Amino acid sequence: MINETMKKLGEERSVIRELFEYGNRRKAEIGADNVFDFSLGNPSVPAPACVREEIARLLREVPAEVLHGYTSAAGDPAVREAVAAYISASFGATMSASCVYMTCGAAASLTVSLSALCVPGDEVVVISPYFPEYRIFVESAGGKVVEVPADENFHLDLPALGKAIGKRTKAVLVNSPNNPTGAVYGEGEMRVLGDLLRKKSAEKGAPVYLLADEPYRELCYGTSPVYPMNVYENTLVLYSFSKSLSLAGERIGYIAVSPRCADADGVFAAVCGAGRSLGYVCAPALFQRVVASCLGKSCDVEIYRKNRDLLSSALTSYGFSCIPPEGAFYLFIKSPEQDAVAFCERAKKHELLLVPSDSFGKTGYVRISYCVARSVIERSLPAFETLAKEYGL
Ligand code: PLP
Repeated sequence: MINETMKKLGEERSVIRELFEYGNRRKAEIGADNVFDFSLGNPSVPAPACVREEIARLLREVPAEVLHGYTSAAGDPAVREAVAAYISASFGATMSASCVYMTCGAAASLTVSLSALCVPGDEVVVISPYFPEYRIFVESAGGKVVEVPADENFHLDLPALGKAIGKRTKAVLVNSPNNPTGAVYGEGEMRVLGDLLRKKSAEKGAPVYLLADEPYRELCYGTSPVYPMNVYENTLVLYSFSKSLSLAGERIGYIAVSPRCADADGVFAAVCGAGRSLGYVCAPALFQRVVASCLGKSCDVEIYRKNRDLLSSALTSYGFSCIPPEGAFYLFIKSPEQDAVAFCERAKKHELLLVPSDSFGKTGYVRISYCVARSVIERSLPAFETLAKEYGL
């Protein structure tokens, strides 16, 4: 007998991957320039120069057996020091290297943190719509997902959160800037969330943790997100360099446990134990060192901003409706028919590959990833216009 849950997970078709593969087949049939693939969130802007310069320097200057060998399980001590110093200097949240755990990207930051915190029966509150892997990660850690819909602007519905958080709640998982909506939670609402979690922890007699999934932190257009540890003490920041440095394939990120967390040492030990039990021996050694030298740098976010502006203004002028995204690289538009799957099938006839919101735990919307070359957006606009006309928009 094999593990049927895992078998099912492995066999399950991911809507996004299916679309991406369909796009590749279609490109082979009719030419790459004639297919407009907005399915994946794979960064299209190159990594900043510091990344390649640092790789070259490390290869030149550090002996191979040191550079490519194991680091400490929690990460190279100098790298953890650098990350802690960066967090302290940039966000004013006093961070210590002993609270930084280097990971293989945000996905690993999530699985490790959830395994560190959850025991069977625990609930983890997520805000819908949400990154589809959350459910898999929470359930694999033995937790149960409790969905709380975002408000009509895709921001936090604090009264609804207040009702959903109870004695079984172990953590609230937030993602700002948000995939798929592009919402960036304001400082005010995050402070109210902090107060709410403090009150709920007191009622429960144990911390309700805030898990802040932040792979898009630097991808913000005109706003800058508050640092979650500054609004609430029992916080773990789950960070990744996948998007900020366009290093998605290199698998590098970190978990920062707030030193103000109740029993921070115990939580950090549980993080280390979870990483160990999940078989993450250490994060990629070369890229730990690369990111330590590129802290505070990011890819050219202006390119994404221009894509966002071009796409959102064109689509709204054709009659589609969306809330202008404040961050990340996704446009979340309302489907002109209630069945977003049917709408995406129709869009496919115009070679537009869009993701229905159903996979994010919400019906009636569509996610468009604008981390593509600007020319793809430009060439796709007539197809969007025709599609809008078909719906009489
Ligand atoms: N969390 C969110 C909200 C994401 O959108 C993604 C990737 O797209 C991840 C986590 C996983 O990121 P990583 O590639 O760093 O594992």
